[in-house]
Amino acid sequence: MRGVMTYLSGVRKGTSPVIRYNLICNKDHSFDSWFASAAAYESLSQAGHLSCTICGSGEIRKALMAPKVKSAPVEPHPLEKLRKHVEGTATYVGGSFAKQARAQHDGTAPDRPIYGEATRAEVRDLLRDDIPVLPLPFRPKSQTN
Ligand SMILES: [Zn+2]
Repeated sequence: MRGVMTYLSGVRKGTSPVIRYNLICNKDHSFDSWFASAAAYESLSQAGHLSCTICGSGEIRKALMAPKVKSAPVEPHPLEKLRKHVEGTATYVGGSFAKQARAQHDGTAPDRPIYGEATRAEVRDLLRDDIPVLPLPFRPKSQTN
């Protein structure tokens, strides 16, 4: 039944239950069609009376009735976001990280967010003295080795 299109007209508001389906053909043409009821859609569909309004294909399926969602902007990788956040808010202190962190903890240096490199032993000492240190899952970009 190629060429058969589905139309609706003359439906008075409130007199007939009408539903709109978004349909997709096998060539991914998307179009809306109106039906008196879900059953009407089913019977038309099963009888092969539906066809694409664009190419006439008889292979029609109902698109998911999902609410239209604005496509989200491409999010950077969480790690990349974290790195940007750290690099944008903290000061890179390189290899003097442990010393700086301790100085800030002791109050001999102004409190500020810092990041840098520390050895495992240094970090262990910091943690033992209740100096909060968080491992970062990346290396600073400025580090070249
Ligand atoms: Zn089509």
